[in-house]
Amino acid sequence: MHKTIAVLAGDGIGPEITAEGLKVLDTVAGKYSHTFTCTHAPFGAGAYFSHGSSFPQETIETCDKADAIIKGPVGLSVDKMAHIPLEERPEKAAILPLRERYDTFANYRPIVLPPELHCFSPLKREVIGQGIDIMMIRELVGGIYFGEKVEGAQVENAYAKDVCVYNRGEVARIAHVAFKEAMARNKQLVNVHKANILATSRFWNRVVEEVKKEYPQVRYSSILVDNAAFQLVKNPTQFNGVMLLENMQGDILTDQAGGILGSLGLMPSACMGPLKGYVEPAHGSAPDIAGKNIANPYSMIGSVAFMLEKCFGLREEAADIWNALADVLGRGYRTADLAAAGTPQNMVLSTREFGDKVVEIIEKK
Ligand code: NAD
Repeated sequence: MHKTIAVLAGDGIGPEITAEGLKVLDTVAGKYSHTFTCTHAPFGAGAYFSHGSSFPQETIETCDKADAIIKGPVGLSVDKMAHIPLEERPEKAAILPLRERYDTFANYRPIVLPPELHCFSPLKREVIGQGIDIMMIRELVGGIYFGEKVEGAQVENAYAKDVCVYNRGEVARIAHVAFKEAMARNKQLVNVHKANILATSRFWNRVVEEVKKEYPQVRYSSILVDNAAFQLVKNPTQFNGVMLLENMQGDILTDQAGGILGSLGLMPSACMGPLKGYVEPAHGSAPDIAGKNIANPYSMIGSVAFMLEKCFGLREEAADIWNALADVLGRGYRTADLAAAGTPQNMVLSTREFGDKVVEIIEKK
């Protein structure tokens, strides 16, 4: 197979973890005789300073031509971000336009913690039980993040407004994605909402429940988002299967799930649209550890596996990467964010060493 990939390494730890993702991609390409042509392009806060835009025209063109996009995290520390005008900050001027341009409405975020890795989690061992295995599916291009925004200018009677809108088509298509994913897993789906307050949530539930009729084998339930936040900490394994979330509620609960896993460095994700998708670690650019070769590249290497699986349909190749990632952790290796006090120094890997271990395992299998 030959595919073209736009690589937007981004800011902070982005370039370091992207290099490891590409190293693993190269290994898989060699092993399975695929050719992946990667083109790097500027994106994020660094792109604003070097090119005057967080999402420069040349990057848009590179992404348009590519079959898939690998995106690193973007953004800088709060004080450095203050030097970028609001309208040009990466969230507003790069991430949301990227999602909008390719209509990447379906965000997949696996929350996986096998029982033998329970020590990563701040939760007690008995709460982790037989392990956490949730696929959170978040709607990514609708709702309040994309609705009208108003900030009243006057000081007297000043106000602000964010409009949340969902239409039938937007809800139905993400519901189908979630039900299909549930069918491919343990056939359990939990729909998250705030229907006791929000009209958009009541509408969301009506449409999801219509779509549900097409998937009679799926065990379906729904839960208020506030209770879901509580239950995720108290008894996360009850959600093993698929959780379906709208955009803002999904933004918050997926990060909470990262906390349950013990590190945001364990969170890959894929954002899929009708024509193409992009993959990215679910965390930010971690300016506090950037350039130190200590970031956990799991999230980026897992995102590359996601690209192979979701964008190119290469399941065996993706499984090779997932297995190698599990193997590295299973053998007791840790990156700094995962290392508990007392972890022997020779088991704590740098960013590059972690990537090397994954490569070594893939090559040997
Ligand atoms: P962050 O996710 O960058 O970091 C939070 C904490 O997690 C930090 O302690 C960091 O060191 C740690 N961490 C994150 N990823 C890690 C990894 N791979 N390995 C080890 N530790 C890791 O959140 P933040 O500090 O609030 O944000 C920093 C910048 O990132 C901000 O400018 C923010 O706007 C931006 N951001 C971007 C995205 C994105 O690109 N999708 C998402 C969230 C935040």
